[in-house]
Amino acid sequence: MQLRIGNGYDIHRLVAGRPLILGGVRLDHPLGLDGHSDADVLVHALIDALLGALSLGDIGLYFPPEDPRWKGADSLLLLEQVSALVHQRGWQVVNVDTVVVAERPKLKPHIEAMRAAIAAHLGVSPEQVGVKATTNEGLGPTGREEGIACHAVALLQQP
Ligand code: MG
Repeated sequence: MQLRIGNGYDIHRLVAGRPLILGGVRLDHPLGLDGHSDADVLVHALIDALLGALSLGDIGLYFPPEDPRWKGADSLLLLEQVSALVHQRGWQVVNVDTVVVAERPKLKPHIEAMRAAIAAHLGVSPEQVGVKATTNEGLGPTGREEGIACHAVALLQQP
């Protein structure tokens, strides 16, 4: 059995007048993430981890921000396409893990819903999907609530 690991990182600005969508879940918050798609920073980091595991480039290669097709796109549907690509290449997801860096809102009440949404679109069980949250202790752009960042890793196997 072969194994491959990949990592991903993303950050989006927090702005007024946008919904806050993380892990496919819409959260109640006065600010949302800015971006061409729905700006789901968690799913974007995860997509890069999956692509990285197979050295297939990054999210911008498949879903370029200048392409009008991806304007307002539901990032979970992009994740579904990347999941299909992984399967086409003969690989399966062992597990994925993510860390969202955000001062607010509190993510804990929404973690299970995020894991379920990601798992459903990735074709795995929620037990294979880790979603964690941390603050940045007030430090840096995430600490000043200028944006929300996410780190992700993905482990794939080829039976
Ligand atoms: Mg992004």
